[in-house]
Amino acid sequence: MDRNNATIIVLDDIKTARYVCHFDLDKGFFDRFENDELIDGNVAVGIEAERVGQTIVARLTLGGKVMVPCDRCLDPVGVEISGNETLTIRFADNAENDDANENEIVLSPNAKSVDLSQRLYEYVAVRIPLRHVHLEGQCNAGMQQLLQNHSSQTNSDPSDTDPRWDALKDLM
Ligand SMILES: [Zn+2]
Repeated sequence: MDRNNATIIVLDDIKTARYVCHFDLDKGFFDRFENDELIDGNVAVGIEAERVGQTIVARLTLGGKVMVPCDRCLDPVGVEISGNETLTIRFADNAENDDANENEIVLSPNAKSVDLSQRLYEYVAVRIPLRHVHLEGQCNAGMQQLLQNHSSQTNSDPSDTDPRWDALKDLM
């Protein structure tokens, strides 16, 4: 893993007093997940964490922009995302079998650090709106034309078959 993109918190740094840190999720971060739907991004994550007994409660603030393929032309389009999450980190002997939900991470009691990358990625991904298109007139016109041609071909009348195929059928 690229250390520059590490989203790791050393657990000993989180004492009872308020712990604050900050991550910047950039293209290097998003590339690690190899998802064609999330091409690039620049998302700031602020974290405030506190240890309460055997549990760490982290409050996250996310804000920034990600690049996703436009629904109309497939060129990258920027989408603003923002929001808050509360993530609970707790410790359990059987951490691997414990059913953690999206707002909980279960660690073995002797864990020294926690990598938040998977959770941070999911928090960004769920905030991408279902529909994302360029503003009117800003789509890649050439690509749009290509896609339109393609869809009109696939939607064409089934009786309107390829003449070469008709010729073959005559031979059979
Ligand atoms: Zn577009």
